[in-house]
Amino acid sequence: MKTIRLKNKQIDYPILIGSNLYKDIGKICKKYLEKNRVFIVCDINVYNLYRNEIHNSFKKTKIECIFIPIAVSEKRKNINTVASLSSKIIAHSVDRKDTIIALGGGILGDIVGFTASIILRGINYIQLPTTLLSQVDSSVGGKTGVNNIYGKNLLGSFYQPQLVIIDTNVLKTLPKRELLAGYAEIIKYGIIKDTKFFQWLQKNGKKVIEGNTNARIYAIYRSCINKSQIVEADEKEHGIRALLNLGHTFGHAIESLNNYKKNIIHGEAVSIGIIIATKLSYVEGHINKITCDKIINHFVEIGLKISLPKNLKKIAPKKFISEMIKDKKTVNKEITLILIKRIGEAFIQKKYSHNKLIKLFTEITT
Ligand code: NAD
Ligand code: MG
Repeated sequence: MKTIRLKNKQIDYPILIGSNLYKDIGKICKKYLEKNRVFIVCDINVYNLYRNEIHNSFKKTKIECIFIPIAVSEKRKNINTVASLSSKIIAHSVDRKDTIIALGGGILGDIVGFTASIILRGINYIQLPTTLLSQVDSSVGGKTGVNNIYGKNLLGSFYQPQLVIIDTNVLKTLPKRELLAGYAEIIKYGIIKDTKFFQWLQKNGKKVIEGNTNARIYAIYRSCINKSQIVEADEKEHGIRALLNLGHTFGHAIESLNNYKKNIIHGEAVSIGIIIATKLSYVEGHINKITCDKIINHFVEIGLKISLPKNLKKIAPKKFISEMIKDKKTVNKEITLILIKRIGEAFIQKKYSHNKLIKLFTEITT
């Protein structure tokens, strides 16, 4: 098992990464609990697959599990779900010594983290991410939240977990499409700050998708180290944390314009978004054609999505840009973009003129 400690003046918690950890999950969690009970809020699909294993492990340590399975989707990732989930938890006379465990992918983790942050003004929670995307990104760093009718993740909080436990075994039941979606967030770290990791992925990326345990553990470990370093330096996203949003301003607009329909899932929107950011970096002269092609070729080789689906290709660039303005990084209606200087270095480009963006966007998407 590998351990990373996310630590700065305000934050300090471990991220445990290994395979076959669920059989000992009770023992691992016990020292982080202040009571002999836990609320395990889980994605209903994950509940059906892993409930027994987890229940048995907690039983061995004499910890009571209250399972709360919920159905999750981007459409259900909203304040109503947070309200009904809070009521289910509060109904058990919850107090500040209770702990909630989030068992599921990024949607579940974001909802549960946000709920934990507001119940009694904040109770402890533990992340047990079960998708590749949540293991390499969303379970680490304490961004929680839900969507709002005006856009994605517009309601939320920064609220750190007590512990993150990543078991690569659960990836065996994850559909390939979801694995590829998670890979988009892995390659993101290589592009924004870790050249050597990008090179490692060029050689080993396929193994990560195909199910090689060591390759998976290494890719997750390296991703979590990169994410931790950024969060340690800038928890509340006043500066460099925004780099993690490479491809996301485009990605969120894609998801929103697509009405969160399942023909494009979050990681796929991010994948297309990173390609748009790469092309934009090229047409703006920040990277050369060789670098641009190197990134695109890797995406194609792994099988990631690189272009907009048909239904969105018809959308006018103007509409796209006005959707992008809803991004949380936007200040005074000026869009902030994350662009690429070289593989291993991204930068924040502020105050992007709409007209220029519309022109460039028309150039690279048609
Ligand atoms: P998800 O939570 O929808 O999970 C994907 C699908 O896989 C679901 O159908 C789920 O039921 C199923 N599933 C989960 N684990 C499984 C397993 N082990 N075996 C079989 N099926 C399983 O999607 P996601 O990609 O994990 O998360 C996307 C969300 O994460 C988005 O809402 C995005 O905004 C958010 N996100 C948040 C952060 C953050 O920092 N908080 C970062 C990146 C993404
Ligand atoms: Mg993301």
